[in-house]
This record gives sequence, C-alpha cells and structure tokens, in this order.
Amino acid sequence: MTLSPAVAVIGAGPGGIAMGVQLAAAGYDFTIFERSAGFGGTWRNNTYPGAACDVPSHFYSFSFALNPYWSKTFAGQPEIMAYLEGVAGDHGLGRHLRSDTAVVALDWDGDEHRWTVTTAAGEQSRFDVVVSAVGMLDVPNIPDIPGAEQFTGRLFHSARWDHSRSLAGERVGAIGTGASAIQYIPAIAPETEHLTVFQRTPTWVAPRIEERFTAEQHDAFARDPELALHLRQKAFEDYELANFDADSPLTEHLTKTSQKHLMAGIPDPELRAKLTPDYPVGCKRPLSSMTWFPTLMRTNVTVETSPIVEFTTGGVRTADGAEHLLDTVIYGTGFKAADYLAGLDVCGAGGRRLRDDWSDGAEAYLGTVVPGYPNFFTLYGPNTNGVTSMIYILEAQAEFVRRTLDEMVEQDAAAVEIRRDVHDAYNTEIQDALVGTVWQANCNNYFRHVSGKIVTQFPYSGKVFAERLARAESSDFVWTSRAGAGGRR
Ligand code: NAP
Repeated sequence: MTLSPAVAVIGAGPGGIAMGVQLAAAGYDFTIFERSAGFGGTWRNNTYPGAACDVPSHFYSFSFALNPYWSKTFAGQPEIMAYLEGVAGDHGLGRHLRSDTAVVALDWDGDEHRWTVTTAAGEQSRFDVVVSAVGMLDVPNIPDIPGAEQFTGRLFHSARWDHSRSLAGERVGAIGTGASAIQYIPAIAPETEHLTVFQRTPTWVAPRIEERFTAEQHDAFARDPELALHLRQKAFEDYELANFDADSPLTEHLTKTSQKHLMAGIPDPELRAKLTPDYPVGCKRPLSSMTWFPTLMRTNVTVETSPIVEFTTGGVRTADGAEHLLDTVIYGTGFKAADYLAGLDVCGAGGRRLRDDWSDGAEAYLGTVVPGYPNFFTLYGPNTNGVTSMIYILEAQAEFVRRTLDEMVEQDAAAVEIRRDVHDAYNTEIQDALVGTVWQANCNNYFRHVSGKIVTQFPYSGKVFAERLARAESSDFVWTSRAGAGGRR
C-alpha cells in the first residue's frame, strides 16, 4: 500500500497559501499552522498606516489567481490582505487552517521517518513532511537601547502597530528609515504635533511611478485578461533585466536617478547632506516614494542623525546630549532577516540542530532543502530574496515541493533528503556569484549574517531560480524507500 504523506505547513502567509493551493489540488492531507488568527502573514502583521507593496500588484499576485481589480500599481495592505484571504477561501484552505497556534519545535524521528510538531501550548502531532512558510521578515528586530523599560510613553514596532490610540497631536519619534518607515512616516507626519525621524544611515529613494487604475481599466482587465497579463509580464521582464553588480551601468543609472530625486526634493543643502548615502543604490533594498522628501521638508518634522544612546523616562537621549521628549516611539528597525527560522527549534537527523548547522549563516539547496533534514522544506528560505516578486519565487518552490511529494508517493519513499555534495556545490557557486555584487558594497544591510556571509539574496534572476528548481533531478536527492527502511505502513 502506498501512503500519501501527511504534511504540516507552518505559516499562512503568501508561502503557506501557495503551498496549500498545491497540496489541496493534489489531494494531500495537510494542516496549515498559523500563529495569528488567519491567512495573510506579513500582510496581516504589517498594518501600519501607508503600508503598501513596492512590487507592482499585477506581478505581486499568484499566476493562478490574477486580479483585474487592483486599485493601483502598488496596492495597499488592506487590498493585498483581502486578496490573499480571497485566494485562500477560493481554494478551500480554511478547513486546513489551525489558527492561533504557534509552532515552536520540529523533531525528526529517523526510525519512524516522521516529524513531531510541537506548538507553544505544548501540543504535539506527527507529520511525514514539514514545509516551513514562516517567511524571512517575521521576527521584529528590536534594538538594544538602554533604558527602554523606564520610558513612560508608548513604544511599538512597525510590524505590531498600536492602533488603540491615534498619534494625532503627539510628539512622535520614528527610529529607522527603511522600506517600512518611508511608507508610514509620510502617512502619520501630518497628524503629529512633531515627528522626529532618527536616521542611522541615509537611504536612496527613487521616484515612484504609479498608475491608479480606472473603473474602465478594471472592466477591460476582467474582460480581456491579456491586458492585465501584459502589465504582469512587463514587471516580470523589468526584474529579469536587473543586474546586481556593484559597478553595473544599471546600478550607476539608478544611483544617478535617486540623486536627482534627492536634489529636486530637498533644496536645503544641510538636510540634503544628511540624506545623501555614500553607497550605491541596491546595497540596501531599493526604495521609491513621491512623499518621502516632501514629508522631511515639513515644519513639524526633524531628521535627527545624532545616534540614540538611551531611553529616558520622557523620551530618548542622543549622543550629542540632547533629550527628545516623546509621547510615542516607533521602531522601524526591520526584522531578524538573516536569522532564518529563529523562532523554530528544528532538530533533524541524528539529533542535529538547524541553529547549530546555520551558526555561520543559513544555507540550503535552492533555498528549499537542507541536508540532514529529511522531508523538510523551507519556502522563502536562504538566498531566495531580492530579485523578483516573492510570490513568483514562492510559487516555484511550492510546485517543487508538491512534485517531490508526488515522487515520494510514486516511489513509496519514506524519506527524501538533498545530497550534501549537491547542496555544498550549489552554495559554493552562489557565494562565488555574490562576490562583487552591490549587496557587498559599502553599506550595512540585513542581507548579511553576522559572519558576513550574504544569506538572503539570490545572485541570478527570478527565472533562473524557477528554472533550476524545475530542473532539479531525482538523483540530486537520497531516497529512503519505505520497504527498505522497514518503515510504517
Ligand atoms: P529595514 O529596511 O531593515 O530598515 C530598518 C531601519 O532601521 C534602517 O533604517 C536601519 O538603519 C534602522 N535601524 C535598525 N537598527 C537600528 C538601531 N539599533 N538604531 C537605529 N536605527 C536602526 O526594515 P523595514 O523598513 O521594516 O523593511 C524590511 C523589509 O521589509 C524590506 O527590505 C522589505 O523587504 C520588506 N518590506 C517590503 C515592503 C513592500 O512594499 N513590499 C514594505 C515594507 C517592508 P541602518 O540602515 O543603519 O541599518
């Protein structure tokens, strides 16, 4: 008798949904564990004012669930969240969801060829296969600033926005000037009494070219999907053309474009100097906005570059000795992106731990499978970021996982694991290809592990990633047959 593997998917964001759709269509038995109350992942967590996607929505959507009704080029969080919930509903994923259930540990049983999944409540269940879809931008990075406990004002991270009280009339401090901050700072600045932007490193910001789609366009996209597909294809091709070399003509062109945007947006030379980076565009994630510079020019907004040294009871103190009195401080300080699966204790074959194996920086074969961890897959895993719509990458990975499961069933395999030599050769190639890229230029970014190794970025195009996953050979893996293993029946 051939057993169909029971699959645990951890996370109900875009990755968990992509995986769920594949598993549901193929008729697998699966459970999606989700820490929060429902589908959406990062788009459920990040509800800050102004939250929007910075990848064009016609491309930041599933190929099997195109949406003719995106309101604009870069849709906002409520629209994306509704879209994701809609896709999950349309594919019947709700009945597979275990919401409000955080998974904290995974343990591989090499005799039984099964994973034990442990939740925060201590409940345990057994699955043949585990797919991690927890994403990369899941664990907020809270800076270790002395005295935070004595601050009597409000303090929250951008991914845990406190909507219980308005910021209207407040003195607000915003720490960080990354992708999230450049969206919420313009959205909140007008209502605050005063907003102090604490900037550690300036970021390049390019103009954002955005189209608001009309009702006529929505009708046309719905009638003739080719029209919307054209927009999707155009966005896809733009990403395919990207070149990540530090000194590529594209990097130079983008840096000049952002320089011009800064010159036009900030006439004050002193403020402009504060906002001028000394590294090329792309070293940090490229940003675009038409509202960022006008916001920094507002009379109730100050850009503070003296580093914060401590919290006081009433605010923060900067290195120049000044105390900034604040009612609310917002951490826009990003995520522990380079610490993959930081919230999960994964114990693989022979008692090995992923935390130890990845102590010098995470790595996987095509970001998806790790030697020593049979029947375990990581969506949006190491070195899958940076080059295209994440939804495109997730779809390619979910399809690969489903194909691998199909092959397990076909071969009546109890376990499948990537060969170490294949994994190691791939990672050597990837790290070699990352040398000289703009991500290694003279800036600090979240792409690097503390060891210095770039663990988040893929050095080629999205299409190359999808093609390589599609071409992965059975012979790249070690298959343990159920009969040979004397395994469970
Ligand atoms: P981020 O890009 O990592 O930016 C974090 C900011 O906090 C940086 O300005 C950083 O300064 C600053 N910071 C960190 N630790 C600090 C400390 N101890 N003291 C002072 N400043 C500190 O984080 P994010 O803005 O949340 O964005 C993270 C990622 O989320 C993005 O790159 C993107 O992938 C994703 N995102 C996507 C969208 C979208 O539209 N699709 C929108 C928002 C976010 P330094 O530069 O000096 O490190």
